[in-house]
Amino acid sequence: MRKSHRSFPWCLAALPLLALALATAPAAEAQIADLRTEAEELEYARHTSHDRMVEYLQALQAQSLDMRLGTYGKTREGRDLVYAVFSRPLVSKPWEAMVSGKPVVLLAANIHGGERTYRESLLVLLREMAQRGTAVNRMLDDMIIVVAPSINPDGLEAQPNPTRANAFGFDMNRDYMKLTQPEIAQYLGNLVQQWRPHLMVDGHNGGARPYNLTYQGGGAAGGDQRLTRICDEEIFPAIDRRLEAEGYLSWYYGRDQDRERWTGLVEHPRMGHNYGPMANIISILFEAPGGQNLGTGAAAGVYGHLAVLEFVQQNARRIVDLVEDARAETVRIGKAGEGQIPVTQRFVPADYRVSYKIVETVDEEQQIVDVTDAEILIKPEATLLRDRPYAYLLPRQADAAVAMLQRHGILVEQLQEPVELEVQAYVLDGIEYRPHFGHAAGTFVSVGEVVTVSRPFPRGTYVVPTGQTMGRIVTHILEAESGDNLVTWNTMDAWLPKPELARIAAEGEGPGTEGQQARQTQQAQQVREGQQTRPGQQPGQQQASEPPPPYLPIFKLIQPTALPTRIVDNW
Ligand SMILES: [Zn+2]
Repeated sequence: MRKSHRSFPWCLAALPLLALALATAPAAEAQIADLRTEAEELEYARHTSHDRMVEYLQALQAQSLDMRLGTYGKTREGRDLVYAVFSRPLVSKPWEAMVSGKPVVLLAANIHGGERTYRESLLVLLREMAQRGTAVNRMLDDMIIVVAPSINPDGLEAQPNPTRANAFGFDMNRDYMKLTQPEIAQYLGNLVQQWRPHLMVDGHNGGARPYNLTYQGGGAAGGDQRLTRICDEEIFPAIDRRLEAEGYLSWYYGRDQDRERWTGLVEHPRMGHNYGPMANIISILFEAPGGQNLGTGAAAGVYGHLAVLEFVQQNARRIVDLVEDARAETVRIGKAGEGQIPVTQRFVPADYRVSYKIVETVDEEQQIVDVTDAEILIKPEATLLRDRPYAYLLPRQADAAVAMLQRHGILVEQLQEPVELEVQAYVLDGIEYRPHFGHAAGTFVSVGEVVTVSRPFPRGTYVVPTGQTMGRIVTHILEAESGDNLVTWNTMDAWLPKPELARIAAEGEGPGTEGQQARQTQQAQQVREGQQTRPGQQPGQQQASEPPPPYLPIFKLIQPTALPTRIVDNW
């Protein structure tokens, strides 16, 4: 028996097409339209459980000629991480999508386990994609769509209540740089790096009333700004028009807002929507504001995603060209060692003024206020710039650092013979260990002088070229002052001086010999690695009287230089 479509009036608009499809399609296709999510069956009194979601997706797949269903990994607790691919003709492998010349779109949601509204929107959209004759299904001639509706099913199924974090307590939307958690590492490694989407949408719950859907583009200053500009100038206005036509309101995500200014979300690339443009992907954050029921929020989400897909369909060539150009530009500036890298940043007002709505409480009553001619703080501005090198050089035993780079799909090479190079070095000014984003012992360094030195690099030294598609991630993750990099996440601790050990040794505390031995062992190691050479001093010369200033153990080769390297295997 067919159930009512009343939760989603847009389905009514598609009814004549649906009737046509019913008249001509095989019997199996008619059954797709009859499938309902658990939440729809319960009229959105509850969310769809993980198991019912998997059953529903399998039922869709069983009856669709345009859908493939698979898993891209498993969670900490062993749940399947499911994804679906849609296209016509149906592609088999990511490289087929790439050579098709069509845009690839990745729609994902629920990285925060308790944020489930757009997971429900995607489940409804998946049915429309699977079913011949619908408006969304017709788009499959023009694009490849990959959907991962639930990135954190362990958080979703946590008892007694869903959690923001995964089963091990990690907020995975802060883990995009260190990639320690299997769910997010598999999402990036097995979906994003394989399918290389031109555009991706990440669905959350948050944002301000009175809006039904809020959005933001990538805010990292280190990303290609054209990838965010197309969101601000074209895609978001298209979403606004689409939602308004259906009776919903949409606007930017708001962290803080009043009659003077609208403040968007923070800028760190450790968050998915900011990571996107750093990886040369047009990236959209969707947040479903509270204060609306689940059915309304999910319906607004369906229209929001639909507006994005319509934009991609109408601008397919332009989107592919823009992203390919951003990838090529990233490679070009890296190979030239050109320009500067924004290492830290802040948001400043955009060059234009905006109008929006806010909710204010007056005499204990909430009222909607129309604000006009206000500032919007979404424009990234660098607060610290460093030179972009041709390549970074890492000590030959920095395997944990290399593993972290490789989790991002970054190419790493290794010197096959020793070379002497003129490099840029950071003189270390201080080191501090403190908790950072749920991690107990983040390492923070302060940099003093930046000097140019000539020094030997032994066979085995790791070389990380910035002239690669992931070059913008390379520079963020290898600049130690970014607050979210190889140094922060402890992969370089072995090469950093230990002030505490030095103090113990100097003051003769405790047994003494242990501290001295530790320091001597470390200094010996640093001498072997050639890290304690002073500016202007010949390599290998050590002055006995005065210890040389320690350098950060990540050196920067600014000049493009041919090197005797080989790719580090990552099979
Ligand atoms: Zn969230």
